[in-house]
Amino acid sequence: MKLQDFHAWSINDREGFWREQATLIHWHKPFERVLDDTRPPFARWFVGGETNLCYNAIDRHLPARADQPALIWESTETGQARTCSFRELHREVMRMAAIMQSLGVRRGDRVVIYMPMIPEAVFAMYACARIGAVHSVVFGGFAAHSLASRIEDAAPRLVVSADGGSRGGKVVPYKAALDEAIARSAHKPAHVLLVDRGLAPLPRVPGRDVDYATLREGLLDAEVPVTWLESNSPAYTLYTSGTTGRPKGVQRDVGGYAVALAASMKYIYCGKAGETFFSGSDIGWVVGHSYVVYAPLLAGMATLLHEGTPVHPHAGILWELVERHRVSLMFSAPTAIRILRKHDHALLRRHDTSSLRTLFLAGEPLDEPTARWITEGLGVPVIDNYWQTETGWPILSVAHGVEPTPTRLGSPGMPMYGYDVRLLDIETGREVGPGEKGVVTIRPPLPPGCLQTLWGDDARFVSTYFGNFPDQLVYSTFDWGIRDADGYTFILGRTDDVINVAGHRLGTREIEEALIGHPAVAECSVVGVADALKGQVAVAFVVLRDASLALRADARQALEQALLATVDRGLGAVARPARIVPVPALPKTRSGKILRRTIQALCEGRDPGDLSTIEDPAVLEAIRGALAPADKAVQA
Ligand code: ATP
Ligand code: MG
Repeated sequence: MKLQDFHAWSINDREGFWREQATLIHWHKPFERVLDDTRPPFARWFVGGETNLCYNAIDRHLPARADQPALIWESTETGQARTCSFRELHREVMRMAAIMQSLGVRRGDRVVIYMPMIPEAVFAMYACARIGAVHSVVFGGFAAHSLASRIEDAAPRLVVSADGGSRGGKVVPYKAALDEAIARSAHKPAHVLLVDRGLAPLPRVPGRDVDYATLREGLLDAEVPVTWLESNSPAYTLYTSGTTGRPKGVQRDVGGYAVALAASMKYIYCGKAGETFFSGSDIGWVVGHSYVVYAPLLAGMATLLHEGTPVHPHAGILWELVERHRVSLMFSAPTAIRILRKHDHALLRRHDTSSLRTLFLAGEPLDEPTARWITEGLGVPVIDNYWQTETGWPILSVAHGVEPTPTRLGSPGMPMYGYDVRLLDIETGREVGPGEKGVVTIRPPLPPGCLQTLWGDDARFVSTYFGNFPDQLVYSTFDWGIRDADGYTFILGRTDDVINVAGHRLGTREIEEALIGHPAVAECSVVGVADALKGQVAVAFVVLRDASLALRADARQALEQALLATVDRGLGAVARPARIVPVPALPKTRSGKILRRTIQALCEGRDPGDLSTIEDPAVLEAIRGALAPADKAVQA
């Protein structure tokens, strides 16, 4: 079937389309209705059906593939590795579920998981899924403040944690932050379950803190049957990255999510049972939930769980893992590839990556030079995916499982089945034509797998996402897009990343695209800074491939001129940044997203606000230093 026809089917006959996709998973009790759309924008999928994510990902494969690998763990930090077959994973999940039950966790209770990338984190997620507890995974690198707000919001009965993780060769201790978070939170969990890796100090609070290894020893033979859940029961809550403001607690269901992920493995990722899927995301992010933990196993594949960074102990480590585990499909982020681009291209060829069929990238715009560099380096198709924590799976991509469609550089692709994507004029709310810029929106009902609501806050769900265009109930992604005549959609940046220079509206993303086209630039970020004369001016922060260039005044000036000329050529002189500031690194969230608002605040001398999601606060100091008046700036 043609992709367009497949998409049209999914929109014109939602019930028929999703009834067919629902056969990809096991239903303990069949659903009565495919879709209950009587209270828009809330959508309830597979109403009355009973199923279970853990059963579908693990138990269902036992007859056919009990001894095949299910979870492959590699810590390139500690040198540890472990492979669990489906049978072993099943055992471990039942042990973890029994521990949780012994600590009083019941169906509907929340469990906060604050863990490094270790197998026990995956056991804990599946144990929750098995017994109908709602997990809320909080990224292990978050400090006490962010963790406290999430504990308070979720009000968990149990927190599962560990002594620490490791990143870039340095131990990251967890327990002090956790204790502080619980002290700050108005809600107190009854218990804290601790995995002791022997990496960091692990003080215990008597009565509250319990030891995983000890409890597991007593429950080695535990049998914990699956709790069958109505399709619309909450499976988990997860916070967005918080790039643009207060993080939102996205809540997802059980049945719709299972069907959506299983369908995406068939149509978008083309994964085959018995193969290995490697997604580099942390389990604390949505990609980790969907494409590390749940989707590969739903498809009968093994998933590779990696504790480590792309450059430690060397910048070829990802490809070494691909070779060792004969990885078929890989999922990463443009930011990881841009980091690798700063290193030797030959590292891509040192390992045998012939098992790899496709590399998927998501999370940030994929710029053309990076796309070219990695496509040529690996020699396999690189497929961009555009989606959000809110949607759980791709909104825009290509679906080679439906029809092989060529990709187009700079575009993630076309609307995926189930998503009625419309580009709307931000002022009038009318649909824009090909070649015209509009806000990417989705006509409800949102397809299965998307958020049901924001945890405990239906009103915020409706007003935040569906209240942006008068007289229209549409879901706003808060991203700009443009569609070409063939239906390929390009993402132009976030709706709040547009700057206004002397009356000209400029997308910061477009200026970034132009700058990154210059071979000396590894990464860059452009922000709009208040200016008395022009309203706003663009300031560009660039990370150079060769940082020493910035140290020699003559070389630096020549480079700045060359960069400005590049922007002139690409976009015209009106888009010229007022200043180009070389910096050693850009401030990013822990999921690798550039914090443009924080940079902007620094430029305008404002308080950058909550910095808890920043990967490396030292980067801010470097930016402050680079902005200092003594620093010579080039005026456009
Ligand atoms: P918050 O909503 O709290 O500000 P966030 O939007 O960064 O945080 P995520 O849900 O992790 O949180 O990110 C989704 C956003 O990332 C998208 O809305 C889009 O701006 C960007 N994005 C994701 N994938 C792509 C892609 N392939 N191309 C361009 N942009 C992308
Ligand atoms: Mg967002």
